[in-house]
Order: sequence, then structure tokens, then C-alpha cells
Amino acid sequence: MQEKGINSTFKKLIYESSEMVFLADDTFPYPIFYSNRSFEEQIGASLPDRSLVGLGLDSSSFIFKEEINLSYRGNDYDFSLDLPQDSSTNYFLFHKGKKIRSQSLPTKKEFQQFLMESPDAQLILKPDGEIFLCNKEALKLFGYTENGELNHLSELEKLFDDPHQWGNWIDAAIGEPLTHRFTSTLISEFGEQLALEIVTKQLIVDDIQYVILSFKNISEKINLERELKDSSSFLMNLTEQVPGGLYQLLLDNEGKMSFSFLSKGIAQVVGLKPEELADFTDISMLLSRVHPMDLPQVIMSSIASARKVEPWQCQFRVKSDLNFDEYRWILGAARPQVLSNGNMVWYGYLTDISRQKEFEAKLDESRKAAEKANQIKSDFLSMISHELRTPLNAISGSVYSLLQDGPLAHQRPELDTINYAVDNLIIMINDLLDFQKIEAGKLAIESTPFHLSSLCNQIIKGLSSHARESKNRLDVTLSKGLDITVYGDKTRLSQVLNNLITNALKFTIEGEVNVKIELRRSSDGKAKVYFEVKDNGIGIAKEHQERIFNNFDQVRPTFSPKYGGTGLGLSITRKLLNLMGGEIGLQSELNEGSRFFFELEFDIAEMKLNNHARPTEYSNQSSPLHFLMAEDNNVNALVLGKILNKWGFTFERVLNGVEAVNAVKQTNFDCILMDIQMPEMNGFEATLEIKKISEVPIIALSAAAKTEIKDRIEECDFDGFIAKPIDASELQKIIREVIFEKNQSA
Ligand code: ADP
Repeated sequence: MQEKGINSTFKKLIYESSEMVFLADDTFPYPIFYSNRSFEEQIGASLPDRSLVGLGLDSSSFIFKEEINLSYRGNDYDFSLDLPQDSSTNYFLFHKGKKIRSQSLPTKKEFQQFLMESPDAQLILKPDGEIFLCNKEALKLFGYTENGELNHLSELEKLFDDPHQWGNWIDAAIGEPLTHRFTSTLISEFGEQLALEIVTKQLIVDDIQYVILSFKNISEKINLERELKDSSSFLMNLTEQVPGGLYQLLLDNEGKMSFSFLSKGIAQVVGLKPEELADFTDISMLLSRVHPMDLPQVIMSSIASARKVEPWQCQFRVKSDLNFDEYRWILGAARPQVLSNGNMVWYGYLTDISRQKEFEAKLDESRKAAEKANQIKSDFLSMISHELRTPLNAISGSVYSLLQDGPLAHQRPELDTINYAVDNLIIMINDLLDFQKIEAGKLAIESTPFHLSSLCNQIIKGLSSHARESKNRLDVTLSKGLDITVYGDKTRLSQVLNNLITNALKFTIEGEVNVKIELRRSSDGKAKVYFEVKDNGIGIAKEHQERIFNNFDQVRPTFSPKYGGTGLGLSITRKLLNLMGGEIGLQSELNEGSRFFFELEFDIAEMKLNNHARPTEYSNQSSPLHFLMAEDNNVNALVLGKILNKWGFTFERVLNGVEAVNAVKQTNFDCILMDIQMPEMNGFEATLEIKKISEVPIIALSAAAKTEIKDRIEECDFDGFIAKPIDASELQKIIREVIFEKNQSA
């Protein structure tokens, strides 16, 4: 020290100073050769390398400045630097040393830098509005370049919708040392409007008052808020405007059910005053209004919905006014959702469907009325048809017997005409009855064995005279393999073929009608058979081809005088075929002809039908067959009697079941013709009695279709059945069958 020319007084002085002082050599690395107590306390004690470089001096630093910053162990120190005047000395004097900050705190300059770079637009002003500092974001916000200058807040006036507002910002900040918030609209140089939030606060530094202003663009936030407000008010509006009401129902872990939301509409649906809605939370409040009859359904369906987490839907009645027994119909529907806490919520709606229900009830009433009217019509139709059958039966039978009696030559054509007309009437009535039965779903298709080719031949044969009369040729082509017995409904099949062939003959003038029946396939005990009826008659225009299968539809007006008919034939044909598992097809050209065709599948029966003896054999027997005829109706008895006599049979007539049983006890009959409907004792009861005492074959006679009384017929063990009006050839066949079979088995 001495050699550096520092005297002891000076040393002592600086040693005691509260500021840090030290002396260092003027040559690199500038060793420290003296330091005072303050320096030692703050730095020196921990300084291993006692030099300026050891103290953090950057080797490239220029140290000939009046002030120097040194960084050591995370702290910054500020020293004043002197070069003593004495020319002989060659050392530096560092004095007025003080710690300026810990390194974790920024410097003033850095603070300024932060402010400049802050993402928020900020200004620091004097209370008179003079701008002390304006950061980059603020410049940008107000449309200035980075180097632009903003000196006074009043310069911004033109940018704001309220130009004088800035005074308020300052006044507020100065008036009260709190944060103050303002909003304002800034119109940018491009005419864009920005919503700004301005936050102001007073700042006092070294007793000098400043104001900090910070600007935030809140346009997006405002837009978002507006959108949110718009959409929630839209939703609110929607909930209130939809018919009925919306609700949210909560089922908590304790099993309590309560409404967590009810739209205003609910009040109206449930019959509450709007102000009562707020308290209408417990589900029991709603349940107490539900009609007692509907309550179980409401509860059960709700439980099911909760258990299975399935949508709920229910129609129920709710009391519209607690004081009156007046109910309105409500439709409720909701979808459940399980919440993460195990609770369940339903989002649903309730809507008033009283008017709809009223309408439904009326509709139901009129439907029932219509059904009843239809039933009355059907009953009437079938009653009339049945009633008509009896006199027709009489006419038909009488004509038959007159014709058999050998009428005078001039009488024959007239009798033929009557015969033809009656036949037609019978067909029509049968059509009507069938139609009624099909409509009522009462027509059952039978499955009994019959011989296919025999049946077809029989049908054609039955129509041959009709063909002759209509001056048409009727040909039939049967393919190989039809000599089989199949299970099916021969009556209905005959009806279909009869109808198609009579139509063909009816609508063909001096032409040809070809019937083709082909075995298409025969396997697995089943036979697929194709049927076709083709004519070269008047044909059917394309536009009418579907229509003719409709009920009562004819191409020509109903009951066309030229062709006759009811327009029911094809409709019945199609329905019968459908019931038998077939589908009618049609191909036709106007003026060229028509081809109706269908396919049916039959089960093949093992059993082959016996070749029956010819009916004449009976009449040729040495002693004629003797019949018991149990028939209360005189006309029917007359007709039946004439037919029996014609065949050379003899008969005895009784008027009821009791007489029939008695007659059997006294006389040996070959066969009994038993009417079902008779006074005293009906045909069923009489037959049951007779079967106990005799083995004589009994044939049931009834105006009801066999299918209707089938069960009873089987129960009473009738040997045969014949429908009224009696078809003579059918009767002959049945008689042949029952007597032949009896003889065979005997
Ligand atoms: P309808 O009792 O009048 O014969 P259908 O239902 O059997 O009733 O027939 C309906 C209509 O179809 C007939 O009126 C006729 O116009 C037409 N039609 C039926 N078959 C033929 C056919 N083979 N040729 C021409 N037209 C036919």
C-alpha cells in the first residue's frame, strides 16, 4: 500500500465508509490490493480470486469509465471509478460501491424493455395527459409505426367514439388509487370498430404521480358473449314456443325424482298457473294429477325406462283442474341419460293430445259404426242369398224333372231357357256367398284327396254343352303324369277353372277355348301343376287388365246385358288361388284373345281313388234302393223326390228328426237324406240317435257350406254331405260313394 502512495489516514477513512471501496492494479487481471470493511463484508470474504476479473469483469470491457457494473455470484454491483490525479500512481480506485439488485430482479432498463414489449397496449402518462411512455402494442393499436411518436393522450381523441373520454380515465385513476375499468370503441384507420377495455391506475414513483393505461381488445369476447346470449335466448325462445312443454327430470341416488327444469309450456299442459310452476318440482305433484286408471301405466313405463335406460313414452290423462273431475290427454316422451355421479336425467316433453284423442275416438266410433253397417250388409246379403237358394233349388229341380219327363217339343226350348237362367242365378248367388265368406275371412281351403286328371276331365265335360251353345270349340290338353291323386280343394279348383272357362266361352264368339294342364314338376311327394285357359275372343285392353280382378269390376257396365255376370268371378278366382297358394296371371290383346294361367302345388296322396261303379248300376239292381228323406220343406222334398224317382229309387218322407229316428226303427233303408235344419229334432241330433241303432249311411243336406258345419258333421259321423240347392249329379255321386263304400267295407 505504502508503495502505491496511500497514506494511512486516507486508508482509515475509506476503511470505515459504509460504501464499498477497493483499490486495484491498473494491469490485467487488475489484482485488488486494498479493500474496505464494507467490501469485505459484502464480497471480499467469499472472493477467491481477488482481482477485477475474479470479480466478474469481462476481459474485453473497457474500464475507463466513470461508472462500472460488476456481476458477482448472481448479484450486480455498481461502482464509481476514479483514477487518482497523482501521476506517480498506477492503480484504480473503486468507490461508492453498492449492490444494485439480485440477478433475479430486472434492471430499470429491463423493466422498461418489458413494458415496451408487453403484449398489452400500455401507456404511462403524466396526470395532464402528457405521454411518458408508449409501448409497441399501443403504437400498433393506435395505428402508429414502431418509430412513431405519441406525445399527448389528446392526440388519440379522433380514434375514439367518445373523444373526451380520456380525461375521465385519468381523473378516475388520480381520484382513487384503485384499478378503474372503462370500455370504449376505437375506430381504426381502416374503419374497423374495436371494442376496448381500458384499465387505469395511478402510479407514484419518487413522489411523482403517473397514470398507467392498459388497453385490451375485447371485441371477440363481446361478440362471443353476444352470440352466447343470442343462442341461449334463441333456445329459450324455442323451448317456450314449441307446442307443449319441455322438462328435465332427475332421479337421484336415493331414488327421489324431481323436475330440474320445466319450460313455461308445462304449466299449460298440466293445468297449472304460470306462477305455480316454480314449486312444481316433485314428481309426486304430477302423479297426483294423473288419472287413476292411467297411473299404473305411467309408473311402470317410467320404471322400465330407468331400469333399461330406454326412451320413455306414454299417453295418459291428467286432471286439468284439481277441483273438477276433468281430464286432458297428454303424450309424454323422454330420453334418459346416466350421469357420472350415478344420477339419471330424462330430457323430455309433454304435449296435450286431447283433441287428437277426441278425433281418434270419433274415428273409432265411425269405424265401428261402419263395421257394424258392413256386418249388417253382409248378414243381409248372406241371408238373402240363402233365402234365394231354396226357391231356386225348387225351380231348378222342377225344371230338371220336367225335362226328364219328356216335355212336348215346343216346351223344351223354354224349359232350357229357364234352366239356363236359373243356373246363372245360382252361380251369381254362389259368387256372392263366396265373396262374403272370403271378405269375412271365413273361407277355409280343404285338403282332401282327389284325382287330378279325372277332375279336369269332369269339369271340361260339364262345360261341353255350354261350349256348344256358345258356338265355341272347347279343347283340353292334359300332359303326362296327371293321373295322380293329390290333396287339395277340388271344389274350389273346379270353381276357378269353371269361372275362367265360362268367361272364355262368354267373351269368345265362334272361336276356340283351349284348356291346358301340365305337370311341371313332381318330387318330394309334391306335384307342381300349371293351368291355362286360352281363348281367341274379344280380349282385354291393357288398361283394364288389372281392374278386372277388382270386386264388382267389369270392363263393360255392371250387369252388361250382352254378357251378364256380377263382376265378382275374377276377384273371387284370384282370392281363391291366393288361398290355395297360387297367383293368377293374364296375358291378353284386345280383339285377339286372352290367356289366364296359374300354378298350384299339391301334396301327392299315396292312395289311389277307386274306380267307382257307374250310377246306372244302382237303377238296374233287382230291387230299387229305398231312401228315407228327412226334410221339412215341401218344395225341397218335392224336388228331391222327383230326382230320386227319376233314378228309380223309392223313398219315404218324414218331417223332423224324431220321425226319422222312429222310421229307422221300423224300416230298413239303404240310405238316409237328412236335412240339418228341422223342427223338433234337428239333423245332427237325429243322426246321433240313428247311429246308435243302425249302420245305414246318412247324407247331410244343408244350405250352409260344408266348411261352416264341418266339425259338427264329423262329430255326428255323417257319411256324406251335399249342399243345397242340390245339384243332381253331385247327389248321384255322393249316393254312389256312400253306398258303394259301405258295401265295400261290409
Ligand atoms: P263377370 O261376372 O262380369 O264375368 P268376372 O270377374 O269374371 O266378372 O270378369 C270381369 C270382367 O273381365 C268381365 O266383365 C270381362 O269384361 C272381363 N273378362 C273376363 N274374362 C275375359 C275373357 N276371357 N275375355 C275377355 N274379357 C274377359
